[in-house]
Amino acid sequence: MGVHVIDRSNLVIMQEEGYQDLPEFLADHQVEVVASLPCYLEENVDQQRGKGSYAQSIKSLKKLNSLGYGMSDSKLTLNLVYNPQGPSLPPPQGPLQADYQRELEQRFGVHFDQLFTITNMPIQRFGSLLQSKGQFGEYMTLLRGAYQADNLQSVMCRTLLSVDWQGYLYDCDFNQMLKIHLKTDRSFKPHLRDLFELDLNGFDIQVAEHCYGCTAGQGSSCGGALGD
Ligand code: SF4
Repeated sequence: MGVHVIDRSNLVIMQEEGYQDLPEFLADHQVEVVASLPCYLEENVDQQRGKGSYAQSIKSLKKLNSLGYGMSDSKLTLNLVYNPQGPSLPPPQGPLQADYQRELEQRFGVHFDQLFTITNMPIQRFGSLLQSKGQFGEYMTLLRGAYQADNLQSVMCRTLLSVDWQGYLYDCDFNQMLKIHLKTDRSFKPHLRDLFELDLNGFDIQVAEHCYGCTAGQGSSCGGALGD
């Protein structure tokens, strides 16, 4: 259909029994890979993801590189994702990408295209973690204090839709997690099939406190810092 498809991966899955042919499958179908690697240092990754996950992730990256992913002479795209380990804003995306590229190449000969820095959203697992540590209010103050109105021009909900596994529509993945459905003038929850007759232009995006996560500092979206 000529549709660009992205696979969001934790990399470790590619080493699991029954999923080891995933890299070849993705390459055969020209699927872009966006893979989470919270640090280029083993200690930090294993601390966040569990022991051994860094080694598994590097193994998967090497496999992807061997198929052409992230290589300059290939059309197969491999992007990495960084998010802070705690309640802080991500560092500037450009310099961090340079650090990742240098370290991964020197240590393992691993290549990738771009690094996306993503702000942790104060919802779901991270939100609960903050609540349990008594840091929720402090983190929200940080996000609100770093609000940049310019980011409103490029937040991803202006141009993307999020679709859940049943076909229902949301402004973004975060609203989907929070079950905040797309707002229209209809009484029913909008579904993918409704797009044949529903013009979405002009309806308000459903915003709430978590939206400060997208608009703080350099901004954040599924494609990393806004404007980069
Ligand atoms: S969290 Fe809010 S600002 Fe961010 S994409 Fe979703 S609706 Fe837009």
